[in-house]
Amino acid sequence: MPKAPSTASSIDVSFLGTGDAFASGGRLQSGYLLTANNYRVLMEAGPTVLPALKRSRIPPEDIDLILISHLHGDHFGGLPFLILNYLWENPPSKPITIAGPKHLEERTWRLFRTMFPNSGADAERVRRQLRFVVLEPGDNRRLGRIRVAAIRTPHMRREASLALKLTFDGKTIVFSGDSGWTEDLVAFAAGADLFMCECTYFESSHLDFHMNYPELQRQRSRFDVGRMILTHVGREVLGHQHELNIETASDGMTLQV
Ligand SMILES: [Zn+2]
Ligand SMILES: [Zn+2]
Repeated sequence: MPKAPSTASSIDVSFLGTGDAFASGGRLQSGYLLTANNYRVLMEAGPTVLPALKRSRIPPEDIDLILISHLHGDHFGGLPFLILNYLWENPPSKPITIAGPKHLEERTWRLFRTMFPNSGADAERVRRQLRFVVLEPGDNRRLGRIRVAAIRTPHMRREASLALKLTFDGKTIVFSGDSGWTEDLVAFAAGADLFMCECTYFESSHLDFHMNYPELQRQRSRFDVGRMILTHVGREVLGHQHELNIETASDGMTLQV
């Protein structure tokens, strides 16, 4: 059945960082800003997220919701810099919700104290403005003005790593997080207006904790999505850039959904 036209206003998507953990090709690490009706969602906060936000002239204090897919440094290691910025430059203009897997709150503050050991008492000012929420695989809940669903991806051994589905009014964006190939993503992404899928490898197709391009190309027609864009791009994929038949993100790219 054809999809009914959406009544939602559009979502602006800014690709702040589209590189892998190694910043391959000089790409910044993970970060995406999604804005609809003045509501700003930062999805992923890699170590380079603060310069990326400032370069794009997005005030970090105006973010409403931060979503983190898993606790690898290239996805949440930028949170201490955001906190530092909230502490000494611009405090949040309203409370900010930060949602992600179990232990996100504790690890973020541990990392912050390690990086800026003398900010302890002052950091309390910011702590009161941040509301951490645990996202579990299987969750489907409202966070602020959007609905967020999560499934577990095959990526981390012991802890949960998540793929995320964000629904703003009638529009849906699905993000794979970091993930090996899994059939679950086909069903999870079905019907999405935009599917942002990690693609770290090309030749190393034996590695099962990240996606590789040949597999995604084989599976592409099974993804019933409006638009599919590869991100979290690694060195091998960059080396085959001219052979890619699936749209690939770059730092600074913006689009509307
Ligand atoms: Zn990663
Ligand atoms: Zn990872």
